[in-house]
Formats: sequence, C-alpha cells, structure tokens
Amino acid sequence: MALERTFSIIKPDATRRNITGKIISKLEEGGLRVVASKRIRMTKDQAEGFYAVHKDRPFFGELVEFMMSEPVVVQVLEGENAIAKNREIMGATNPAEAAPGTIRAEFAESIGENSVHGSDGPDTAAQEIEFFFSKDEIVG
Ligand code: UDP
Repeated sequence: MALERTFSIIKPDATRRNITGKIISKLEEGGLRVVASKRIRMTKDQAEGFYAVHKDRPFFGELVEFMMSEPVVVQVLEGENAIAKNREIMGATNPAEAAPGTIRAEFAESIGENSVHGSDGPDTAAQEIEFFFSKDEIVG
C-alpha cells in the first residue's frame, strides 16, 4: 500500500500535563512519521469549525471549550495505512474501552479529555489537514 497521510491533534489535557513527547513516541514507534507539526491555541471559530459534525451533540459546547482551554499540537502523520494505524495506536474514544498499550488507555483522563484526535477516513483526513496546514508546511 502507498504512503498515506492523516491528521492528528494532541489535545489540551496532554499539553497541560507536558506529555506531548510521550504521545509522539507512541506514534513513531507505531510506524508513523510527523511530517508537519505546530503548537497553536485554537480559536472558537477553529474549534467549532473543526468539530462542526458534532454541533447537535450534547457534549459540543464542553468539547469546544476544552479544545480552547490550553494549547494543542496539530500534526500531519505519514505512513503505510496511516489513518487506520493512527486510530489503532490511539485506542477507543472512551479510555475505559481502549486496548492496553494505546495512547488513550495510558494517558486519557475521560471520554472527553482523551489526549488525541485522529482522522477517521480518507475524506476527513484530507479536509482536516487542509483546515490547519498549507501545502508548504508539510515536509515529507
Ligand atoms: N466526546 C465527548 N463525549 C462523548 C463522545 C465524544 O466529549 O460522549 C468528544 C471526545 O473528545 C472525542 C470527540 O468528542 O474524541 C469526537 O468524538 P468522536 O466520536 O468523533 O471520537 P474520536 O474519533 O475522537 O475517537
């Protein structure tokens, strides 16, 4: 299979606890390469726009506030089967259900404050990468 790219966020609960390196190590050990990265503070527009698909869910307001509460690290990851691989390394949304050894099993604090985001398919990966990165910021 050809190299694939996916979009990742290290969320505020993880930047707050200064464990971005531990998370990146897990991604790298799983065969993914960081080909773009920046630490940003999300604006309200960015947080609402990024999670627009969840706007009618009861947790939407809390999720947006959480994503703005501390800096985040947005990243593009590259590797064989990168989208599925990243989801595998992340583990299930709810850390109580995440497989042992996954990022969420080891680091997530709750279903909301769950340390990482990862695109769930090729279309969202392309959209999410474009939402945060220009082409010249991605260096493969
Ligand atoms: N989320 C939440 N409560 C829920 C479900 C999701 O706060 O009951 C948050 C959580 O931060 C999650 C994000 O909304 O990562 C997006 O949810 P999704 O179901 O897309 O999970 P993911 O793709 O991040 O595993």
